[in-house]
Amino acid sequence: MSRFESTLIDCPLCGAHADRHEVVSQTDRRGRPLRSVVCTACGLVFSNPMPVAAALDDFYTRDYRREYQKAITPKPRHIIRAFRVAKRRLEGLQPYLPKTGRILDLGAGGGEWVHSLATAGYAAEGVEPNVGFARYAISEYGHPIAVAPLEAATVEPGSYDAVTAFHVLEHLRDPGAALDRVHALLTPKGKLIVEVPDITARDQSTATKFHPAHVVGFTAETLGALARRHGFTIDADLTGRLNGENVALVLLRNATPVPGAMPPAKTVPRVKAALARQSRFHRRTLPNAVAKAWRAGAERLATRGMSGRRIAEKVLGPAGGG
Ligand SMILES: [Zn+2]
Repeated sequence: MSRFESTLIDCPLCGAHADRHEVVSQTDRRGRPLRSVVCTACGLVFSNPMPVAAALDDFYTRDYRREYQKAITPKPRHIIRAFRVAKRRLEGLQPYLPKTGRILDLGAGGGEWVHSLATAGYAAEGVEPNVGFARYAISEYGHPIAVAPLEAATVEPGSYDAVTAFHVLEHLRDPGAALDRVHALLTPKGKLIVEVPDITARDQSTATKFHPAHVVGFTAETLGALARRHGFTIDADLTGRLNGENVALVLLRNATPVPGAMPPAKTVPRVKAALARQSRFHRRTLPNAVAKAWRAGAERLATRGMSGRRIAEKVLGPAGGG
């Protein structure tokens, strides 16, 4: 994303200035220049300089899927993978989701999670800035998807029993502002279920971790502190238990934000140690590449010529119960 305009910013979690930021990487996963820092006050990792908001919006509206999946609409093998993840999430989140009600999914992509929720009986809606993916989701499954970035989407305040955001916040220049918007969308006892990559996870090497589209790197502690600052309390920490090694938090809308909330002090040394440890293992990516290619081939074979709806039935079962 170096081709986009960017500016030096204070820490998006705690506001600490540049003298508290320590550089952790100078390149992205493809070896292009990308400066990433860790805030030594709170442990948040982020791109600094940070792309300006307009540059990020433009990128997600048009270029993101094309650049990272080489497709403008989802391919069958991506759809089956997304439905399998959706099914796992639905099972893992069962104790935390309301029994019925309205659920809004942010960054709905090709609509697989929205369709899974609808199949399970929820009034499910989505917001997706990428035009190709959003249009596919609408025409294939017929659920309401607003084609826009969250800040521009017309969604009804105070009306959602739950909002889900899987792998969204790490893409945002100001994730706290997004939490404020979600807070306004939820009913008083509404929940936000959020999943982001864990910057300290062992399943990714440092070499692949710094991604020009992932402008913020969280841990459960830093995401939890950000959530408390923006009016949420932590209902459950499902990190490492919902979907791979990702950070996953169930957050409760709370009337009183805690503006000074900070992660525990041990977060900073833990993040720094994890990043240092990983850089020594970054050559262990060949087995991963082989496993990935194998999986892609199997997914292609399993979905040949199938529509999204057909794949949904295959994974979720005809009534969605399977
Ligand atoms: Zn900070």
